[in-house]
Amino acid sequence: MSQARTSPGRPRSIQFRLGDRRPCIALAATLGDRGREQPLERIPDPETLARWCLEGGFLAVSPKIAAPELASVRLLREAIYRAACAVRQLRKPLPEDVATINVWAARGTLVPELTPDGRSAGWKDERALSPVLATIARDAIDMLTRTPPIRIKLCADPTCRALFVDESRPGQRRWCSMNFCGNRSKSRTFARRHRES
Ligand SMILES: [Zn+2]
Repeated sequence: MSQARTSPGRPRSIQFRLGDRRPCIALAATLGDRGREQPLERIPDPETLARWCLEGGFLAVSPKIAAPELASVRLLREAIYRAACAVRQLRKPLPEDVATINVWAARGTLVPELTPDGRSAGWKDERALSPVLATIARDAIDMLTRTPPIRIKLCADPTCRALFVDESRPGQRRWCSMNFCGNRSKSRTFARRHRES
């Protein structure tokens, strides 16, 4: 992909947190810095959402997205985040969040396709946003129902609070990503020790 162009008045190209995150976690991560008063909106407009769909590997061709669809995506995102927060605290999610997830999960999803070598898979070509959201909603149901609540976690960085699933064997993972929050915390601890010594 070409270097992001920056022009006056246009914010620098937003970096997504994708990695190998499962779909519902990747969507939840489109709102960053959740612990701050002003969280970081990584899908501020339909064009950026379209780019997220491409970079996330959901779609091969940029979909046309209308403003109301962007609102639906954010609604689903926050329903998933809130439901996960409730489940990890052994509370019932809000009925409206359950309803939002179920409405999307009932739609037609992306269709997985095996590659010729039989060792990896992608999604069958789609051009619309709806199957992406249906896939994410079903992934959220899978996460909420199959993950032990104690393994559904929020990043220990108080400004981040990103959602993640701890799949490590000991279950001691604290950060959404070692590359971001883990290293930031380590360097803060180092600086503190340095000052104190
Ligand atoms: Zn984090």
